Amino acid sequence: MMPSGPSFNIITFGCQMNKSDSEILSGALMCAGYSLIDDPHSANVLIFNTCAVRGNAENRAFSRMREFNSLRKKKGRDQIIVVTGCVPQYEKDELLKKYPYIDIVVGANSYEYLPEILSEWNKKSSSVVKLIENKDAESPIVNVNRDKDFDQAFLPIMYGCNNYCSYCIVPYTRGREVSRVREDIFLSIEQLENSGYKKLLLLGQNVNSYGQWLYDDYDFADLLLDILSKFAWIEKVDFLTSHPKDITDKLISVIAENKRVGREIHFPIQHGDDRILKLMNRGYTVAEYKEKVSRLREKVAGVKISTDLIVGFPGETEEEFVNMVNVVKELGFFRVISAVYSPRKGTKAADMDDQIDSKTKKRRLSELHQAVKDYAFKG
Ligand code: SF4
Repeated sequence: MMPSGPSFNIITFGCQMNKSDSEILSGALMCAGYSLIDDPHSANVLIFNTCAVRGNAENRAFSRMREFNSLRKKKGRDQIIVVTGCVPQYEKDELLKKYPYIDIVVGANSYEYLPEILSEWNKKSSSVVKLIENKDAESPIVNVNRDKDFDQAFLPIMYGCNNYCSYCIVPYTRGREVSRVREDIFLSIEQLENSGYKKLLLLGQNVNSYGQWLYDDYDFADLLLDILSKFAWIEKVDFLTSHPKDITDKLISVIAENKRVGREIHFPIQHGDDRILKLMNRGYTVAEYKEKVSRLREKVAGVKISTDLIVGFPGETEEEFVNMVNVVKELGFFRVISAVYSPRKGTKAADMDDQIDSKTKKRRLSELHQAVKDYAFKG
């Protein structure tokens, strides 16, 4: 069937939160009469949903955008280029200076405004920019156009982050931590009942702190319990991402006692050395992290702990790097996502002395990969 209204396509970079944002944006555009098409070249509106966590994700997005723009010029196409996601919040005014051919910029906290902006957009006027610092706790999520490639339904339960890990750009791009009100979350799940989805992935930068600054006596463990009891048709609930400092005994018990909660817990340690963890502002020591892993393994039958690691943080000595490798050897994670440290302007770590050269970072990453290969995947 030929699309009816103007068409759009979204090219998404980055994490599950970005994928979820693209699904919500896609639903909003379809409700406004736009049709989603597979071919980005033919779309009337081409949207780049960008990631700012690492420099190379950002570069990938903009090199694709440049390709599309030169084709647009060459073929005289009347295509509207939109950039959304974390990069607009990160680059702010610099974005249009660097890429003046972008027509519309909507930040990660304001993409819902795109249908309205498009309806008023006039190609003769200058580019439109809409950036909002923090999300609203009551921004409803309705009419999501879910990507059928995933068998889990993504469901954001909170936005932003207050942790300010010294290497991380997220608190600056997605704003302060805001939990969605629980009734809105339940409403989003109700809407899923007849969609065929039986699995949920609850999303947030730090799901374990759900409810802080919103409720006095209701936390992530309570939310999980409510979801399990209210929605018997849900077969499995997973969540991303957990911060080690915020995982509580209460939450461990809820996971342990409810088999419908997924057994793979993503539990990012980020480094295996206390001095570096402190510089990263992570809020726990290696011993405290290990203690929580032991408790999870002791209480939750079949638990699989996965983690993230950053190699080459500023000032990382050879000995400190070896401490990270030793944590991998000792804990034998189920899955490890590792990357070299990528300085992000505006974060504390980007201004630290002793940035590690890229040759050393690459060599350490490859040694880490070897340790992961030899010791990880043991659960
Ligand atoms: S917890 Fe730290 S790493 Fe995770 S999003 Fe927040 S600031 Fe970034």
